[in-house]
Amino acid sequence: MRVLGIDIGGTEIKAGIVDGNGRVLEARSVPTPADLGAFQAALREAAGFDAQVEGAGIGCKGVINPRTTRVEILPGTVHFLEGTCLAELVRPLLGREVPVAADNDARVAMAGEMVWGAARGRADALMLTLGTGVGGAAVVNGGLLRGQTGAAGHLGHVTIDADGPLCICGNHGCLETCFSAKAIEAEAFRVIHFGCESRLTEWFRERPREVTCQAVFEAAAEGDGAARRIVERAIHRLSAALAGLLHIFDPEVVIVGGRIAAAGEALFDPLRREVAWRTRVMMAREVPVVRAQIADHTGVVGAAALVMRER
Ligand SMILES: [Zn+2]
Repeated sequence: MRVLGIDIGGTEIKAGIVDGNGRVLEARSVPTPADLGAFQAALREAAGFDAQVEGAGIGCKGVINPRTTRVEILPGTVHFLEGTCLAELVRPLLGREVPVAADNDARVAMAGEMVWGAARGRADALMLTLGTGVGGAAVVNGGLLRGQTGAAGHLGHVTIDADGPLCICGNHGCLETCFSAKAIEAEAFRVIHFGCESRLTEWFRERPREVTCQAVFEAAAEGDGAARRIVERAIHRLSAALAGLLHIFDPEVVIVGGRIAAAGEALFDPLRREVAWRTRVMMAREVPVVRAQIADHTGVVGAAALVMRER
């Protein structure tokens, strides 16, 4: 079995042919264009494979209606997709009538974990994708939680600071504003901008806007005080948010994906310890917090899983 998986992101459109074991047989990516007019051509360039497929899955940021594949709400750089039906954009590439499914990108990542990864066989699971922003998805009683309007599971927009910074969603103090690559980079930028004593200032003095989340973790691992404080504070807030989520969902497992998960034990060790401490009274056992198993081509494999699950 072969399925086309498409991952529409703010900077890149990624596509691939995925087999029944979750292996990517072919993959391509192109930069995401700035308007709908150029989008169809970019999509054809990324996803116009010669292979005959038995279905197509699409993951996209924002609120997607999985019944119609319509993009309901999509703030940010790909805002121009709001109101379009993703299936209609993809069908011309397929050559014949096959099932097409679409959903929010974090839910798509969870679908991949449900079919081939850490959520396989689990009735209740949570997923956080820690990247530029924070995506989230929940499996409840064996099914992906969608809610009344498809907006359920946006765990990155849990409020953890009532008076915190403004978020892309319009609210203040969401988890995403405190723990995400953007949030960590913004804190580092402040350190550099103020000229504070730190390796970050040494490394990025001439190009402060190029500071990366990965560099902050690296500086922290090397013992830099300012970087350590940024990382510790971010993980402290993430732990608080996750403890609250465990009390709500009582999952069998928490799966953490996204590029910040590559920080490994520097993230997972303090996160597990603080979450366990915060939930010690209400939770009967320590909930495992594990790294996502589908680390490569996550969006493409997950999008393919969306179709495989429905077969
Ligand atoms: Zn928000």
